[in-house]
Amino acid sequence: MSKNTFQSPSIESETIETLSAKLLATTAELATANKKLMQVQKEREEMLSNISHDLRAPITAIRSAVDYLTSGQNISMEDYKSSVELIDRRTRNLEHLIQDMYYLFCVEDTSKELQFEKIDAAPFFETYFYDTIIDSRYDTHEMILDMPEDLDCTISIDTQKMVRVLDNLFTNAAKYSPEDSAITLQVSATNTELTCAVIDTGFGIPAEALENIFKRTYTVSSARTPGSATGSGLGLSIVKAIVERHDGTIRCESEEGKGSRFVITLPVK
Ligand code: ADP
Repeated sequence: MSKNTFQSPSIESETIETLSAKLLATTAELATANKKLMQVQKEREEMLSNISHDLRAPITAIRSAVDYLTSGQNISMEDYKSSVELIDRRTRNLEHLIQDMYYLFCVEDTSKELQFEKIDAAPFFETYFYDTIIDSRYDTHEMILDMPEDLDCTISIDTQKMVRVLDNLFTNAAKYSPEDSAITLQVSATNTELTCAVIDTGFGIPAEALENIFKRTYTVSSARTPGSATGSGLGLSIVKAIVERHDGTIRCESEEGKGSRFVITLPVK
């Protein structure tokens, strides 16, 4: 009895070739996925170590001040005042840091829906601009709104989150610029994309730090301004996370001594 169950050698070898190719492709995919997983794991570890470092520093300072105040030794009024001020300042930093960490976790958590609404871009940016520039921190800057009068464009955004983005960029622009320098909000649109840029003529960012400013890992935080009064160092990570949840992009062009330009693009609806 002839056995018909075997395929001809050519078909069989073709099948083996196809299978081998598939296997190779799958192996390559697995290797890429594994690499990504390890990268995520590494970032998570760095982030945890960064968080515990950031939390530990102010707690240690507060603990030392409390120990000093409760040590029973004679403390001059001046020392007493400066210790209490230190506790106040460091507690505020801590509160700010914890708030920002929680905010960042929430924004990055894609299971938490954003409150998207379709809005006219022009009145949104115009209202934001005029509401913001009355803040005294902008008194010493020249504030410019550069937006075509006939800008007609609808975007779908979570307005509260987008206000947070602009607030961060404006605050930074003022924080890292000298008095009397200009800060510009520039808005334009095509049929498919809205572009919004916050431009300052301030201190700028060194080229080697530029690629790190949106990250929240340890190496980046060392690139952040040390001892900044209120900055948690997470501002731009939050900005990036919000923009990306809007299917948008953000980039920064900067030159030391000349200024920075943070450019956001958002899809037009
Ligand atoms: P921070 O709380 O330190 O301001 P951010 O995440 O908002 O944290 O910014 C990260 C770092 O990027 C800042 O510490 C600063 O060094 C730099 N940076 C951000 N915006 C500007 C800007 N407009 N001009 C110069 N440097 C900036």
